[in-house]
Amino acid sequence: MSGRLTVIGLGPGNADQVTPQASEAVAEASFFYGYKPYLDRLELRPDQARIASDNREELARSNEALAKAAEGHNVAVVSGGDPGVFAMAAAVCEAIEAGPAEWRGIDLAVVPGVTAMLAVAARIGAPLGHDFCAISLSDNLKPWELIERRLDAAASGGFVIAFYNPISRARPWQLGKAFERLRTHLPASTPLVFGHAVGRRDERVVVTTLEAADPSSANMATLIIVGSAETRVIERPGMSPLVYTPRSAPGAGT
Ligand code: SAH
Repeated sequence: MSGRLTVIGLGPGNADQVTPQASEAVAEASFFYGYKPYLDRLELRPDQARIASDNREELARSNEALAKAAEGHNVAVVSGGDPGVFAMAAAVCEAIEAGPAEWRGIDLAVVPGVTAMLAVAARIGAPLGHDFCAISLSDNLKPWELIERRLDAAASGGFVIAFYNPISRARPWQLGKAFERLRTHLPASTPLVFGHAVGRRDERVVVTTLEAADPSSANMATLIIVGSAETRVIERPGMSPLVYTPRSAPGAGT
């Protein structure tokens, strides 16, 4: 009998942003594969087993999980946020495409989660209220030149941009370079939101501008939202500002 593999999104970090569907999928699975900090969020029963692996080992982890499911087990692969956004669902699909034909018979389900850009946006207002895109700044899986081309296209196209994977110890200069690139397209006053560890105990959300943005204030748990020329900041007495992008662009309805 071919088993089941469920790729589960656990949301940004807080328990109340794990969907009931995700909790149900966790309760049903017997073997859990994932990056250790995500597995640590689960409260598993003694009859449920966890197999932790390192962050960079997505394809190997997918292969192991699929092999286990092919033996007839109910297997879960967990991701932070949404599993389809720069995460495990695509790795599992890559492994199925390249793997043995019998893996195509595995009952595969993807359970969505609240992705980081939505969690950050919700904390600060509505910065994604009009057209937007998401770019991973990691050049581990694509050349830096391609990232620069996409930055140019996104900024000149008027998109609000969410940066995932903005910086890491192995990638120290990319974020500063990206800001420099954006400054050639966007006004210095363009609002930026640094959302750090949203939904976790050390959550911090900072609103700044493209001119003042400091790459060294980001780390691996930061998601950055870069506004468009239309994005606005509303200052509020005694509260954090609201950042939003109006629903309509200039020229609408004319
Ligand atoms: N699948 C995840 C993204 C994985 S890429 C999701 O949908 O959210 C990892 C990047 O996501 C991090 O470098 C950071 O940019 C962002 N991220 C993940 N969780 C976050 C959180 N709680 N707060 C802010 N950014 C987060």
